[in-house]
Amino acid sequence: MDSSHPLECFRCGAEHRFEPPFCPECGQVSPGLVAGGDLSVIVEDVASEKLRALLLTKIKAWFRQVDSLEADQKLKRGRWVLVSGVEEESGNRLVEALRSIKIPARLGREPGWPQALWNGSLIISAIAGLFAAFSGPLWAFLFFLTAVAAPVMGGMRKLRQMRPVIAAQFRDPHANEWFALGRWYSDLLHRLEPEDAALLKAVAGAVFDLRNRLSQPTLIATAAGERHGELYQKLHDTLATALDISRRIAECAPADRDPLRTELAQALDLLAKTQTWFRGVEQEGVKKTENLVEDLDQITRSIDRIVGEARAPETRSGLREPDRVT
Ligand SMILES: [Zn+2]
Repeated sequence: MDSSHPLECFRCGAEHRFEPPFCPECGQVSPGLVAGGDLSVIVEDVASEKLRALLLTKIKAWFRQVDSLEADQKLKRGRWVLVSGVEEESGNRLVEALRSIKIPARLGREPGWPQALWNGSLIISAIAGLFAAFSGPLWAFLFFLTAVAAPVMGGMRKLRQMRPVIAAQFRDPHANEWFALGRWYSDLLHRLEPEDAALLKAVAGAVFDLRNRLSQPTLIATAAGERHGELYQKLHDTLATALDISRRIAECAPADRDPLRTELAQALDLLAKTQTWFRGVEQEGVKKTENLVEDLDQITRSIDRIVGEARAPETRSGLREPDRVT
């Protein structure tokens, strides 16, 4: 697929306003979501200026915190490391996404010192070594220094060049959880009736929208402060609950689906109300921090209620299981 929109899903082509953890249309995990490991994504020389510009836009969309100036400079200098310290699945996904826009990339290991020392400066080193052997003591010492320093300097240059654009701290500590949710989501989309799939997509879209608003440098996000992490977790829980309700919709008899659909609709309703609240505060921008914190607390309590109520019938249905067999 030749995707040119910076936030286009490389799997299904759906366009997004911001980079979601996974695509609400198909469940494809974002290439920017990477988990820790010992591999690197290496980008080969990109000759075309147009392709380089597209790549830079994509990188900025996938990794919001990236230093675009550094990325831009590296792009012009042949082979470079986009991200290092990633596990295989994340790395392969990123490579696939890069190849979908015709960027030559591969998964590999970064060069360490032994490989870095093996560079072009070794020729200088060899010549200096030869001169050292046939010179007087002072000149021999100077040539000897050159012979040692040349490959080290060359190695340092090589290592600097191979320093990844995306540093380890950019990795999402919850990446594995999102991978699992993305897989579950994608599987459910195939098993649900179209109207139920649409409802689940709406819930995912709302959760991602709120998650994105929380990550912006806004007054609310600041007010959320320590609750920031907690709210992220609540949003994650809401989505996991919605997935669980959807799973039960997919698995139960058609006659039993309506109460579950109502639960899902209630979760969506709460998310929509929260979105309206967020938008209101973002536009007004005058609320006091204490009031924001109070409102945020109320939101987390509401989410807890939805998550708690949705889980309760699950336990009851487990007890009623024999009655439900059709
Ligand atoms: Zn997609």
